[in-house]
Amino acid sequence: MGKPIVSVSGIRGVVGETLFPEDTLRWALAYGTMVNRRTIVLGRDTRPSGEWVRGAVLAGLLATGCKVIDLGIVPTPTLQLAVQHWQADGAVAITASHNPVEWNALKFFDSSGMYLDAEKLRHLCEIYESGQFRYAKWYEVGQIQKDATAIDRHIERILTCVDVERIRRRRFRVVIDCVNGAACFISPRLLERLGCEVIPLFDEPTGVFQRNPEPIAENLSQLCRVVRETKADVGFAHDADVDRLSIVADGGEALGEETTLVLVVYHTLKNKERGPVAINLSTTMAVDEIAKEFGVPVYRTRVGDIHVSKRLKEVKGVIGGEGNGGVIYPRIQYARDAVAALALVLEFMAMHDEPLSALVQRLPRYPMVKKSMSIKGLDVHKLLETIKQRYTAEEIVEEDGVKLQWNDHWVHVRPSGTEPILRVIAEAKTKEHAEQLCDEVIAALQEMQLSDPAAH
Ligand code: MG
Repeated sequence: MGKPIVSVSGIRGVVGETLFPEDTLRWALAYGTMVNRRTIVLGRDTRPSGEWVRGAVLAGLLATGCKVIDLGIVPTPTLQLAVQHWQADGAVAITASHNPVEWNALKFFDSSGMYLDAEKLRHLCEIYESGQFRYAKWYEVGQIQKDATAIDRHIERILTCVDVERIRRRRFRVVIDCVNGAACFISPRLLERLGCEVIPLFDEPTGVFQRNPEPIAENLSQLCRVVRETKADVGFAHDADVDRLSIVADGGEALGEETTLVLVVYHTLKNKERGPVAINLSTTMAVDEIAKEFGVPVYRTRVGDIHVSKRLKEVKGVIGGEGNGGVIYPRIQYARDAVAALALVLEFMAMHDEPLSALVQRLPRYPMVKKSMSIKGLDVHKLLETIKQRYTAEEIVEEDGVKLQWNDHWVHVRPSGTEPILRVIAEAKTKEHAEQLCDEVIAALQEMQLSDPAAH
């Protein structure tokens, strides 16, 4: 029986290959034991496997004496917000996020609605490994309480943070690509509340994704086409659990997921609040440029929602997130919230008379190249050390792999948290330069791989 992958974002596996009810139950028992008979919020995305995973998770939580607030199918940010509402002690989201349909996963949260940090995750893994679960007696077992209003509350919360009337007056024509995921239940409804003419795409909540659920430009060809054909003002796309947002401008150009955060950071600092920004190390340098313009600091963290959210909280940041389309707007919550991001983008558009395609021309945007290579059987630490020695960079950041930073370009080499690969990401003023940076590092790594006896 294969094992799921354990990482900072939870437990992920392929249904029937590495993810099984027996093991899923053990993870739920471990989590229930860890939180010790408290109230836990539970939600899932639309995947067909979601029902059995839910069954296994419910069994584990109830058997360890937890009370479960069951939200049904909801976006992950809706679930995180519900933790606050119920003053719950944690939450479990059943979703493999942007992964294809054969995957499913458990994401674990703490009492603040944030992902478990490394220490709490380690504790959870220890309980799981030990098998020492704290089973409740018959009179202590948990009960289920249904909550069908979490999405309504999420929508209302977002509407208090944007200028609704201003957006409504524009009557934007918006195409929304829900990728047959949890967004089907929230984004079209929010758009209607914002007075938009809504053109839905993939809005049947079947969980059988009709495109790759990762909302990167290359997966959004249908959305681009519909935006073009309907002469829409904008198109939006989510992943299956709605913590990522991608934008397609009028005319049908996919702006790339990095642009979402650039646009929202610019809008927030210019029109809403001025204050610190937190982003991860692999996020575009366009954010630094914008922050400089408004005289606010940028804090960079390891890759992962929890790291950025924690830093934002520490520095009392006003906006932040990750370049993959994950926007964290602390006025709503310390979580990547693609529904909130969508409202912020529309608010930005409503403040200008020009179309979005013209507005983005004024924002800094740089080509980024993302590649990866297999590191099976290699000493990652040694590889990173050699990369560090080989280059003369203006700054070397070693918080998460190795990032080599120059004045107007950078390359970041980091081991993936979920696969045996090294990610190599580069950004520069031209595509050619970014490609070259990536290729040079990969060539150097491959050279080392050939000379490393451990690899053979
Ligand atoms: Mg996601």
